[in-house]
Amino acid sequence: MDKTANQAKHKKIGLMGGTFDPIHHGHLVTAEEARFQFNMDQVIFIPAGIPPHKSKKNVSHPSHRLEMTRLAVGSNPHFTVSDVEINRHGLSYAIDTVDLIREEYDGWEIYFITGADAVLEILTWKKVEELLQKCCFVAATRPGFRLESLGERLIKLHPAYSARIKTLEVPALAISSTDIRLRVQQGRPIKYLLPEAAEEYLYRHGLYK
Ligand code: NAP
Repeated sequence: MDKTANQAKHKKIGLMGGTFDPIHHGHLVTAEEARFQFNMDQVIFIPAGIPPHKSKKNVSHPSHRLEMTRLAVGSNPHFTVSDVEINRHGLSYAIDTVDLIREEYDGWEIYFITGADAVLEILTWKKVEELLQKCCFVAATRPGFRLESLGERLIKLHPAYSARIKTLEVPALAISSTDIRLRVQQGRPIKYLLPEAAEEYLYRHGLYK
């Protein structure tokens, strides 16, 4: 990629990190809301290759998750998909991804968008202090999640970190990948929970049976 094309002051990029097994409308609404609220110019969806805290066999093959993500985000001109974590050997550490994006998007402010539950584990992530210096986090919450308590928990984690972690309430996150997988297994409908193209893909490839 031509680095100079991405050199810009005050530009903001969102990295939408997740397993996306499968991607659903809750993820898409989260990314769009984060883009709007934090004035991001672009959001890159980055399906995790091997998420650090999960075993490989519990997660669908990366090529399926990547393809469903591509199919799902296609219609939004502000969204793109990157296979950087999927093509990297070993575990998908956020710090490695952020370092790579910093090289390509010189001078852009970086936001790492993901689920609040994942963010609450951040103290266990690789090079967490460096990571929080290099990017801000947007922690998306599901309905019923007590935002005040998240704030308190984040401050307890580390007072200095809390300012670098923004919260975002997303009612559409009532949809979850776990529920979609269970529904497919039980033969219950998943229509309208995820983009049609991703739904067709997962049935065509017999995922979650
Ligand atoms: P997860 O444990 O599968 O998900 C935790 C919760 O967050 C779930 O409720 C999940 O809902 C939700 N979620 C996940 N991604 C989301 C997103 N982009 N937007 C809104 N909600 C989201 O977490 P994960 O997906 O494996 O990991 C999340 C991200 O953190 C990934 O990019 C992963 O690589 C990164 N991570 C990095 C490290 C590290 O660097 N050491 C360690 C752990 C995780 P759904 O199931 O519905 O998505």
